[in-house]
Amino acid sequence: MKITLSAIKADIGAVGGHTKPSMEVLNAVKKVVAEKKEILIDSYIGYTGDDIHILMSHVRGPNNPDVHKLAFDAFMEGTAVAKDQGLYGAGQDLLKTAFSGNVRGLGPGSAELEFEERPNEAVLLIPADKTEPGAFNLPLYYAFVEVSRSPGLILSDDMRKGAVFTIMDVSHTEADKVIELKTPEEYIEIASLLFNPHRYVIEKIRSRSNGQDIAAVSTSRLHNISGKYSGKDDPIALVRVQRPFLATEEVGAMFRYAHYVAGDTRGSHNLALMPVPLNTPSSVYYCNPIVSGMYFSMHNGKFTATGDAFADPVFDEVRRLAVTKSFMMRDNGFVMPSMLPMEEIEYTILAEKLKELDRRFTTR
Ligand code: MG
Repeated sequence: MKITLSAIKADIGAVGGHTKPSMEVLNAVKKVVAEKKEILIDSYIGYTGDDIHILMSHVRGPNNPDVHKLAFDAFMEGTAVAKDQGLYGAGQDLLKTAFSGNVRGLGPGSAELEFEERPNEAVLLIPADKTEPGAFNLPLYYAFVEVSRSPGLILSDDMRKGAVFTIMDVSHTEADKVIELKTPEEYIEIASLLFNPHRYVIEKIRSRSNGQDIAAVSTSRLHNISGKYSGKDDPIALVRVQRPFLATEEVGAMFRYAHYVAGDTRGSHNLALMPVPLNTPSSVYYCNPIVSGMYFSMHNGKFTATGDAFADPVFDEVRRLAVTKSFMMRDNGFVMPSMLPMEEIEYTILAEKLKELDRRFTTR
């Protein structure tokens, strides 16, 4: 039986700033999903920072209008509650109020995988907050390309055959502009794009050994959709793990570097990506970017058991590392690279003020 996993997420309002959704908003989202459960096999709802994610299993394929509308309706209902409660940024990711086709282009992010379920299907759901889809570039490159960090690539007969990366140029707004590149032979070309996570983003990774999709990342870019800055699009990823793919811990370990990512307060800074337990609010320390992880088992499309990927003591150390790295970056004050380059803050008031100042320059 071919199963589709759809992970759809949105920020529809948060408590006292961009922190976390209220219980009432979460319950409103859960209620809508529960009422329409005949569309799905199973569902799970959680949050990372101010983003609510809905994970759904079904047999309707990716980009299915019924499944996407279900998530959209749930976010609309949640938005109504968020507005009633006066939550901050109520409905901020819903750029349109009428549903059309699928959630892409409407504001929420989505990552979807369709596959023939293995008897012991194991998957990682990886939502992040206060950053952008390119935040997954480095961990996924390490996991699927960089043998010195990911020795599973030489230990697995299937992984030795390499993978196909689909990479999107998210600066192109007229249509999806994508390229397919193969590991191992095109690793330099892959790195040549992924070095710029603001523009080039991994959308999908497919196995060359069996043709199956292994990983998917949400790639929407809100400010390209809306034409004005409306928050960075906090991403979500799905990664299938265990034989014939990488082990759960081989993927999880790639989040131990607390690498610098764009986002944070006002979407204008670079700070270290901190792995956190599930359902963790955003930090009031400059909204330090966070990533959480849920591993789960599936059988006949049912989520039979789940676990918290980044809750254990190893990741306490990574959290300390992330704090140290973030403090060091903020010690750079307002000077780049602690703040993002001009093209990334194009939608803030600073860009307008610079135009005013530019008029006062004289040449000599
Ligand atoms: Mg967010």
